[in-house]
Amino acid sequence: MEGPGSLVVPRSDNGPEWQSGWHASTVVLAVHKAVPTLLTLLLAACASAPQPAPASDARSSPALPSVPPAPRTEAGVPPPLPGELSTPADVKRLDFRGGEPQVPIRLMEGRPEVIFSPRTRMRLRFGGPDDKVLEAPAGSVWKVRVSQGEPAVLSVRIQLGEFRFSDKAGLAEEQQEWQARGLSTRTQVVGALYGIAGKVIDNRRYLLLVDEELSPQAAAARQAELLRQSGARTTLFEEVQTPARGILEVRDAAGNVVGLAQDSLMAETKDDSGFDIRQVEYHVGYENHGFEDRSYRGALQLTVDRFGTLAVVNVVKLEDLLKGLVPSETYARAHMEALKAQAVTARGEVLAKVGTKHLADPYLLCSEQHCAVYRGRTGEAPSTTAAVEATRGEALFSKDGRLVDSVYSAVCGGHTENNEVVWGGPPDPSLRGQPDLLETSAGQPSPQDLESFLAATDLPAACRLSSLAQPNKFRWEKRFTAAQVNAFTESLGVGPVQAMTLSERGVSGRARVLTISGEKGATQIRGELNIRKLFGMLNSSMAVVEPTRDAEGRILAWVFRGGGWGHGVGMCQTGAIGRAEAGQRYRDILRHYYNGAEVAPIY
Ligand SMILES: [Zn+2]
Ligand SMILES: [Zn+2]
Repeated sequence: MEGPGSLVVPRSDNGPEWQSGWHASTVVLAVHKAVPTLLTLLLAACASAPQPAPASDARSSPALPSVPPAPRTEAGVPPPLPGELSTPADVKRLDFRGGEPQVPIRLMEGRPEVIFSPRTRMRLRFGGPDDKVLEAPAGSVWKVRVSQGEPAVLSVRIQLGEFRFSDKAGLAEEQQEWQARGLSTRTQVVGALYGIAGKVIDNRRYLLLVDEELSPQAAAARQAELLRQSGARTTLFEEVQTPARGILEVRDAAGNVVGLAQDSLMAETKDDSGFDIRQVEYHVGYENHGFEDRSYRGALQLTVDRFGTLAVVNVVKLEDLLKGLVPSETYARAHMEALKAQAVTARGEVLAKVGTKHLADPYLLCSEQHCAVYRGRTGEAPSTTAAVEATRGEALFSKDGRLVDSVYSAVCGGHTENNEVVWGGPPDPSLRGQPDLLETSAGQPSPQDLESFLAATDLPAACRLSSLAQPNKFRWEKRFTAAQVNAFTESLGVGPVQAMTLSERGVSGRARVLTISGEKGATQIRGELNIRKLFGMLNSSMAVVEPTRDAEGRILAWVFRGGGWGHGVGMCQTGAIGRAEAGQRYRDILRHYYNGAEVAPIY
């Protein structure tokens, strides 16, 4: 047996790619000097080559292959791939230099360990000064866990608001308002500006922050204070002061430690065929929280998250990301032209989000509702994959050549809404509310007369005529007992509710304000989403509300009559299907919903 020193595989830039003679040793080490004791112990523990072992994990899944022979390390190490190991500080921007960018998306975090298996031959890169590499065959099973994890030290500022980059006026106004209330603020730009293929992708945003750096605990207390004092619902802007640290231990199927990495390691496969991962945790914090064995294209970055525990990040080409993401956004059986429209909007949504979220995390996006629901290869469907491929590299640009903020919702109810009505801020020329009708005729009801518009159940709306339309989402009625409404509004302190009025409506009839009067007082709920949330997520705020009373005039119940499902801004997804079925092509559909925007390739 050779000494430990020779077990460390040196990096070499001239080795053949993906093939070479196998060697017996498997120990790869790339750990900072800070852990000499552990290192010595592990060297001792790993002095013998790991043996094949039967799968003993109770969570073994039939989807994963059985344990293959133990892998061996290659002497001739291939040159680094484009997309070197990233650190949290430099992943907040996409790299278009090679054409299609790669996107680091979180699959899970806060995990004690992960078990995964490459679908083709794998190269495990340990980073560090010498970039050690271990190679292993398809189907081999690996377990990675974090030891000696230390959480990141974050500094936090209270975020008072977020503004489009074009909305300097809104920013200044809000800043002055807070200053008048004695609060010192500062602004922060997030996002980036990309010039690409003659187009501009600009997802920069201004954040308005309280000029006060706080610990996470102090920030929570300050947020509560601001809510009490001025009713302001704030969020947090986090920055990493000291990155999280930890040692990643890689074990083979027999449980032998075969390598260590400091903070992060990267697993890649030939042809990007990807990995099977056991027990991927999803919908954390939601009712349908669960675990599922899933398969992903692209590379895996195993890294220490902000808690000092394990994060599993999928570094995936944008097009492959979309293949696993579009099926979560729509019906795979929808018309192909509608699926193409969905693929283009999903691409735009990803481009708009990267670099503006998760600024203190070692990834750009999460795979949950917060960023983009993504199940990887497991979620893919042939039809949506075909739609992604047919629109490869295409995004939607406004007349002045800027990437459109291609938001969408399920059912507009016959008319889409202006962005500022739902989210505030300046009007976006690409997000103007439009009638969603396949035929127009004189005397058709419009949202300006909302009662008759909501009563028009036979409107020739694209989202009603679509073969996948749900009539109870186009027009609906929701009844709450007086007791239910009093419970929903209890925290507002107005007492038993006597009157409710929806007002400040946008072009589609969606309300911005709900006024509630009760026996003890009155108040207003502002914002489309806040109104919907108050009633346990009302389908939409395109609604009217009335009480029903008993013979003595006492309120028995409140009845909302409404239209549409969702915020109604941008594309109506069900309407897009209706339009495709009526013969419109995806470019026509997108031009309609985004006010003349055009599809153009960016790579
Ligand atoms: Zn997210
Ligand atoms: Zn519609």
